[in-house]
Amino acid sequence: MHFFNYKGAELYAEEVPVRALAEKYGTPLYIYSHKTLQRHFDAYDQAYRKFPHIVCYALKANSNGAVLRLLAKRGCGADIVSGGELFRALKAGIPAEKIVYAGVGKTEEEIRNALKAKILMFNVESEDELREIDKVAGKMKTKAPIALRINPDINASTHPYISTGMREHKFGISIDEALENYRLASGLKNIRVIGVQKHIGSQITKIDPFVDALTRILILLDRLNKEKFDIRYLDIGGGLGITYADEKPPVPADIARKLLPLINGRDITLIMEPGRSIVGNAGILVTKVLYLKKGEGKEFVIVDAGMNDLMRPSLYDAYHKIVPVARKKRSMIISDIVGPICESGDFIAKGREIAKVNRGEYLAVMSAGAYGMSMSSNYNSRPFIAEVMVNGKTHSLIRKRGNYEDLVRNEAIPGYLR
Ligand SMILES: *Cc1c(COP(=O)(O)O)cnc(C)c1O
Repeated sequence: MHFFNYKGAELYAEEVPVRALAEKYGTPLYIYSHKTLQRHFDAYDQAYRKFPHIVCYALKANSNGAVLRLLAKRGCGADIVSGGELFRALKAGIPAEKIVYAGVGKTEEEIRNALKAKILMFNVESEDELREIDKVAGKMKTKAPIALRINPDINASTHPYISTGMREHKFGISIDEALENYRLASGLKNIRVIGVQKHIGSQITKIDPFVDALTRILILLDRLNKEKFDIRYLDIGGGLGITYADEKPPVPADIARKLLPLINGRDITLIMEPGRSIVGNAGILVTKVLYLKKGEGKEFVIVDAGMNDLMRPSLYDAYHKIVPVARKKRSMIISDIVGPICESGDFIAKGREIAKVNRGEYLAVMSAGAYGMSMSSNYNSRPFIAEVMVNGKTHSLIRKRGNYEDLVRNEAIPGYLR
């Protein structure tokens, strides 16, 4: 459910014509819907309202400050994976006591900064990391609150690059070694064990993997309780999928209905870490058709957005629906929609049946709010593109388009080359 719909012949972002935004702010352009973001956050918050919980939005899906601010104002927490994300979360007003910190490669400096900020907990991914956190906390004469990220060995049936909860993945601690790691953690002087965490992958469109993974984690939790661990937080990760093509993923309430009975009566706070399901369908990428080109038995629509602006098709072979911003009767063509980057992997769609468009027209790449801007780069020396938030009839620039000076700002020429 989102608020990008045609009204008559024009695609609208809430109550603003997309064409008007493209003309005002230029293309390529990311547009986010305030109403959609709000609705998606509320869907989680409502689904779990009867159980103590914190929704910790996964910043890596989209870390624009305005998006974070909107979520912070509604009581959202953060799931971070770097010092940069800690900085962004705090800056947006997300309270430290609602921040959880995941990632397999936390550096000493990042750990120190997170301890200084007094985040809720570190989601620890290895024994080495546990010892490092203990050491850093010791130096700071404090105790580090931690959960262990447990790999429940569940196949989330998603793309291999975004599946994380199986034995062969680099993430978390194997469920078979969980108990010994918990015992180790409780023996470390500067560690306070307070949670269990799992996250099995992304773009999961079925309920079963969530139920299976939680069931396994609860067996572990019971053992931990028996050994008198004081586990306060159960973090079930993120990973709920969205509709890109014709997927019919469950909504948060569907999942809550299955998960809550499993944890009912337990004296814990539930944490969830949704990313994509909050921002994915709340954003579109608007791009202009530059050229049409007939190749050998193939047609190309060449647009001004490249793989550096939206990497998902190139990286994951991901599908995004692409629609013309102006709706009219059109014949259909089969075409590759490609960007200006000098790489064969630079495409938004391949062999796609789309409405025939002309040079200068705008296309909307749907469901681009998650892992779009946050994964973008300056490859081919293309400045970062602009982002706009629409709220009803209001539209605001929430990230200015980059310029050429930005590209070289941090570079330096050695003296001997001057
Ligand atoms: C990426 C990630 C998330 C968010 O995943 P989505 O699929 O975007 O919901 C949550 N938790 C962890 C640990 C992650 O790595």
